[in-house]
Amino acid sequence: MIPGIHRPAAVRVDLGAVKQNIEQEIKHLEPGQKLFAVVKANAYGHGAVQVAKTAVSAGAAGFCVAILDEALELRRAGIVQPILVLGVTPAKYAALAAVNGVSLTVPDVEWLKKAAEQLTGTGLQLKIHLAIDSGMGRIGFSTDDEFIAANDLLLDSDTFVVEGLFTHFASADSSNDTYFKSQVARFNHFQSLLKVHPKWIHLDNTAASVFNKKIHSDLVRFGIGIYGLNPSSNPASADLATAIKLKPALSFESELVQVHLIHQGQGVGYGSTYVADGDQLIGTVPVGYADGFIRKFQGFKIKVGTEFCPIVGRICMDQLMVRLPHKMPVGTKVVLISNNLAEPNNIKAAADYVDTIHYEVACLLDDRLPRIYDN
Ligand SMILES: *Cc1c(COP(=O)(O)O)cnc(C)c1O
Repeated sequence: MIPGIHRPAAVRVDLGAVKQNIEQEIKHLEPGQKLFAVVKANAYGHGAVQVAKTAVSAGAAGFCVAILDEALELRRAGIVQPILVLGVTPAKYAALAAVNGVSLTVPDVEWLKKAAEQLTGTGLQLKIHLAIDSGMGRIGFSTDDEFIAANDLLLDSDTFVVEGLFTHFASADSSNDTYFKSQVARFNHFQSLLKVHPKWIHLDNTAASVFNKKIHSDLVRFGIGIYGLNPSSNPASADLATAIKLKPALSFESELVQVHLIHQGQGVGYGSTYVADGDQLIGTVPVGYADGFIRKFQGFKIKVGTEFCPIVGRICMDQLMVRLPHKMPVGTKVVLISNNLAEPNNIKAAADYVDTIHYEVACLLDDRLPRIYDN
């Protein structure tokens, strides 16, 4: 994918905010607790390498990514801290991970056996984290027998270095703790079956940490908080208060490339879903659903100059139209998503508008949009 550098549209990332969010979180940690910055999916759309370098300068002790390629990207960029791949990596890539000093997640005993086959005789050691499915229903050990079998296999192994034991919460962002507590109890049960001694026992994501759930976690897998977003993610719900102050890092900006007058009865966009009821000024913005700004945003108000203007007609693949309250020149700045929570086009409001969560809105912003970094 070629980023479009010859059109006025970009994702702006405030690295000062990224740094501040991580520093705040580190101050909030308990003594000895470490922060692993979660930079999967190109750092939630913000740019993995730039965010990772900023995270190092802010004091992050390590990184989490979703897939092995993301870990390799960080290694190529010179990141030397521990990196854990949170998803299931095919065991046939165990040696590749080991060579690059990347830690892999173990979902079950079958995986461990396959990885052992790959590594035997290579002299390589693979760092691993055992995943427990404590209630997310996604990956990890869920029966005692299998977990004990894995421990037995690992007891005298010089192929594997057991670096971690972890689980992931399904609802740490909820004010109702019942399910959360059942997951902690289930995890504690598996921890009591351990025969090996992982360096890091870890449970916390951003939500568990910033909503002060107060459970023991040697490291916090800090994701959405890096980007300054409150993890309370129920659409349209009020945010829970976070223990630290978060500053959103991302904004999505463009410019008007044309402004024209339409008259009563004239339509705008495919299917003419919008028809002018009189003379109206329409501005065209050169971004569309191919940039990850989905069609559901039709009707959402974005900031043009100093005015909030509704998107009219269907959003096209590469362009969208807004109704302007008065004439504005070509080149007028357009903010589709604001990093200012006080503005009505902030990312949480945008996510609510399309019935999703801000995580998804940020991740969808496509590689065609260059990332511009401000310090
Ligand atoms: C994505 C992810 C995280 C980070 O979650 P946030 O809500 O962004 O803090 C932590 N742990 C696991 C296993 C994840 O998949």
